[in-house]
Amino acid sequence: MPLLLRALALVARAGLTVVADLVGPRGCVACDGPLAQAAVFCGGCGVGLEASRPDGGRSLAPFAFGGPLREAIHRLKYGDRPDLAAPLSELLRAHVRREPGFSDVELVVPVPLHPSRLASRGYNQAALLARGVARELARPCCTGALLRVRSTSAQATLDQAERRENVRSAFSVVDASAIRGKSIVVVDDVITTGATLEACAGTLALSGARAVRGLALARAGRVSDPDRDRPRSSRGSER
Ligand SMILES: [Zn+2]
Repeated sequence: MPLLLRALALVARAGLTVVADLVGPRGCVACDGPLAQAAVFCGGCGVGLEASRPDGGRSLAPFAFGGPLREAIHRLKYGDRPDLAAPLSELLRAHVRREPGFSDVELVVPVPLHPSRLASRGYNQAALLARGVARELARPCCTGALLRVRSTSAQATLDQAERRENVRSAFSVVDASAIRGKSIVVVDDVITTGATLEACAGTLALSGARAVRGLALARAGRVSDPDRDRPRSSRGSER
């Protein structure tokens, strides 16, 4: 993306966050219903939240991708609702507070969108979530560390092996000196097969990152679910 556009996008995203912080009180992230103080989901939606099953890998996601959380993430990504990122990142912040494995993190990096996708959506939902994680850890959030150099559209229609192939070499490091020797957490909204986070981690490791782990709000439980992580309105791509 040209530098000017990039700068404008950054300003726009920063502005949205400020507005979201100022607007409150807010509604339920899944249904806009009334909320108890400091809650993220209303009582009705909250009962549908499911913890994820640990997969033994190096990526963490506190919740299963389904029910009200799936609805909230769809609204965040496809419903032009960047304001939902702040309350949703509260869930990640709470997770980071509980998990001991984040104490050595030095840098927070969101999974980037391809510039064309960023231009059409106007914001990167992973970057908005990552900012909350960085604030919690009191570490910098480096939105420009990774660049998505290859569009990986139509990811949702691919099987696991095809997804891995599709995202391999999709990312590149912008400034290796900012990465070298660092312990990094890469933030995304949903882990489906894990291929995207693995590709990001591999790219960062090649640039000398000391340790990389992944963090997302939710993990898809059923890889065979053909409709997972797809926008309701358009059968487009995953991101
Ligand atoms: Zn609700």
